[in-house]
Amino acid sequence: MDLWFEEYQTKDMVIACRVRRTLHEEKTPFQNLAVIDTVEFGRMLVLDNVIQTTIRDEFVYHEMITHVALNTHQKPVNVLVIGGGDGGTVREVVKHQSIEKVVHCEIDGSVIEAAKKYLPEISCALEHPKVEIIVDDGIKHVRSHKSHYDLIIVDSTDPVGPAEGLFSAAFYQDIHACLTDDGIFVAQTESPFFNGELIKRIHQDVAGIFPLARLFLANVPTYPGGLWSFTMGSKKYDPLEVDRANIAKLDTRYYSPDIHFSSFVLPPFVQELLK
Ligand code: SAM
Repeated sequence: MDLWFEEYQTKDMVIACRVRRTLHEEKTPFQNLAVIDTVEFGRMLVLDNVIQTTIRDEFVYHEMITHVALNTHQKPVNVLVIGGGDGGTVREVVKHQSIEKVVHCEIDGSVIEAAKKYLPEISCALEHPKVEIIVDDGIKHVRSHKSHYDLIIVDSTDPVGPAEGLFSAAFYQDIHACLTDDGIFVAQTESPFFNGELIKRIHQDVAGIFPLARLFLANVPTYPGGLWSFTMGSKKYDPLEVDRANIAKLDTRYYSPDIHFSSFVLPPFVQELLK
């Protein structure tokens, strides 16, 4: 039989992938969770019918949401990952020698369990001795910790449901207070094609709170439009002033010293959003 998974990436645009089989389906207290095996992208994590990550293209997103900021900070020791229940972000963070502790705060424990069972290539560092998993709301965690983390990574779902507050100015204020004096914050901030107004608002909020706000881009084939944005707020370090010679050699497939700098080169239509 011919089976297809369809995601309405906008109300008028669909991405469809041929499905080999459904591996897991569950209604958690927060969302509908599925893991499906697709022909083109391999195993795929889907939440509320929205593609989160796939075995084939996950490296782009996970390497870019981590290494750009980790290599911008001079000595990141304590890192907080909010969301990211599949574990891909944590897997990349522990590649850095300076890291002593990664606190992983994911609201939905079922995502972590499903990733451990069906996506071992992505979730493989969740049991790492430097990783502490907390199943809780990231908003709450950030509010209750002051001057604590060198880097906070927000690897969230789209700004609806439990993730809505992760895109608010009030949350960015709490993040600022939760970071050490030279701390950095980075978040996935959706598609420049389809979420321009959101990106504009986030950039204004972050630029109003942090001395430095920067946007960078990567290409994630399964996300709407492919072109994806990340927003960084930094108290001290500028990702564009990183000394190339200090970028450690990492086992990566998308991120590289050249990509570190080129990802900040923005097409004029994206620059326009940041004015
Ligand atoms: N790479 C993905 C993307 O852009 O589609 C995000 C993947 S990751 C699975 C997103 C995670 O954020 C989900 O597992 C979801 O449960 C979690 N999440 C949503 N809101 C949250 C919150 N307030 N606190 C902590 N985790 C949250």
